[in-house]
Amino acid sequence: MPDDAGGDAATGPGQAGGIAPDAAGLNLYRADGALGPLLDLWMEAPLRAHLEPHLDALGALAGGRLDALARDADRNPPTLVPRDRFGNDIDAVLHHPAYREMQEIGLGRFGLAAMSHRAGVLGWPAPLPPIAKYAFQYLFAQAEFGLLCPISMTDSMSRTLARFDPVLAAAWLPALTSQDPDAWATGAMFMTEKRAGSDVGATETIASAMPDGTWSLSGEKWFCSNAGADAALVLARARGVPGTAGLGLFLLPRMLPDGRRNRWRIVRLKDKLGTRSMASGEVVLDGAVAYPVGDVTRGFAQMLEMVNVSRLSNGVRAAGMMRRAVIEASVAAAGRVAFGRSVADHASARRQLLKLRLPTEQALSFTLFTADVMAKADAGDAGAAKVLRLATPLLKFRACRDARKVAGDAMEMRGGNGYIEDFVEARLVRDTHLGSIWEGTSNVVAEDAIARAVGRAGCLGPFVVTLSALLAEVPLSVAGPVSEALHRAAAFAEEAAAEGNGTLNRQAASGLYHAATAVLFAWEGTMLAARGGDARRITLARIVLDHRLSARDPLARGDLVAEAALAEAWVEDSALTLAEAVALA
Ligand SMILES: Cc1cc2nc3c(=O)[nH]c(=O)nc-3n(C[C@H](O)[C@H](O)[C@H](O)COP(=O)(O)OP(=O)(O)OC[C@H]3O[C@@H](n4cnc5c(N)ncnc54)[C@H](O)[C@@H]3O)c2cc1C
Repeated sequence: MPDDAGGDAATGPGQAGGIAPDAAGLNLYRADGALGPLLDLWMEAPLRAHLEPHLDALGALAGGRLDALARDADRNPPTLVPRDRFGNDIDAVLHHPAYREMQEIGLGRFGLAAMSHRAGVLGWPAPLPPIAKYAFQYLFAQAEFGLLCPISMTDSMSRTLARFDPVLAAAWLPALTSQDPDAWATGAMFMTEKRAGSDVGATETIASAMPDGTWSLSGEKWFCSNAGADAALVLARARGVPGTAGLGLFLLPRMLPDGRRNRWRIVRLKDKLGTRSMASGEVVLDGAVAYPVGDVTRGFAQMLEMVNVSRLSNGVRAAGMMRRAVIEASVAAAGRVAFGRSVADHASARRQLLKLRLPTEQALSFTLFTADVMAKADAGDAGAAKVLRLATPLLKFRACRDARKVAGDAMEMRGGNGYIEDFVEARLVRDTHLGSIWEGTSNVVAEDAIARAVGRAGCLGPFVVTLSALLAEVPLSVAGPVSEALHRAAAFAEEAAAEGNGTLNRQAASGLYHAATAVLFAWEGTMLAARGGDARRITLARIVLDHRLSARDPLARGDLVAEAALAEAWVEDSALTLAEAVALA
């Protein structure tokens, strides 16, 4: 049993004694006013009803047991045991019991790595659609970020094998999608080398074909998360062709069919700022046996399937971590008294809380939109596949960057205690910084969005068409300016792509993301109101237009009355009718 998992009942709402409470003990699904109503919009009703108790259960765990386990696993990182007592090289990764219990929740009970690939997970008679998977990841990430890396890699490895190699898929998917701790296998992705990070084409690991049809891999991989995985997908130079064109994709098992360890070693685990619960190692491949995945001349293109799904998951996790930060900031501000009243009653604090809210809601809306598009793309819709191709790097880039700031600003809202590791904010700050680095840094991912998806793959047209269609339902006074912003952002993205030197990539990617979220807010608010619900999200469209897509005079007062009304609606969580929301928008 972990030393203090679950034993932190002294914190939580109502335990003030002068100290601001935290969200420990809250059901994070119920505490999130946005997710449930948005799932009503985006999900088919029978599935939505079926998943409700499971979402509720994970929400309770995320604010309770899972959160306590995450704190414990963060404080007790995995260790590497190079040899056993008989001198055999084992390089085993030992995880703290808290990590293993989190695995049982994520991989076992909720089947997060399995649910997209086979029927029966959570009692549903078919594989669950992407929106279900990402809703659960979003909740899970509010407690634990590190383990979602192996979960997501296992999920995306199954997807990659299923797409490109039916034989390997048949061999590996039963274990990769198992919910049984004694039977499951987890996946990893070994790409990065000392010289080859963003520049994957500089890969030096060599793959040589063997007479028995297997390949032999030799070289070093510098960053290998989930280092103790049962199998990894590895990029290695299979042909004497320079750059990414010479790279093949290989499945590298930990154990050989005859029960011996494969010829690769974990030589060191990294001492990381965040994701400390999960092992990231350095690996040496010494003639390791590997199996070619799909077409060995298309290794890099095939690996991008895994990378893109991991990128998407990273954006979703950033959305989840921002939500946790906002919930914590709201609970802390409401429960802390300063100068005779609650912090949340001070005008500048209300403004800060509203500022935290905007990127958090943007990331959630963009997540659900992207998940919906993924389902359509997987069903064979070519236009949706293009939208997904662009939406993925946009979410990864912008949400991961926003999460750094939101986590930092939420930390400040708790004051000095926010900086202390007793509270979750410090871990959120450490973890959120990784999202912008791994699976491609911001520069690299923004370039992927603008130079490749917009410039070369023709994704911008379908992206704009799909979003514009949503505006047909929105009141004209809101739809007009939002549509104009979308077209301006699209024109700028085209210009940036044509420019070709990368200077404008990040600006253009941000513009597209912001404009898209303004469309989504306008549509969501309208649709929720049509069902008799809260139209408040429409007001966020206006904030995006004013604060993200317009030039502002830094010395202008702005419309303080409207701003106070917006803060009132969002900080106090008070619903608005369509007419009220449109008036504020
Ligand atoms: C904790 C952790 C776990 C990881 N796990 C894995 C893993 O499991 N598997 C794996 O394969 N990798 C993993 N990585 C590696 C990660 O994906 C790389 O670190 C990342 O892609 C950046 O590569 P790099 O470190 O070589 O940096 P570099 O590529 O050297 O980048 C350095 C800087 O140069 C900038 N830059 C590079 N190219 C360009 C360009 N064309 N235009 C503008 N700027 C540019 C980057 O944005 C960055 O700011 C992990 C990394 C970390 C930190």
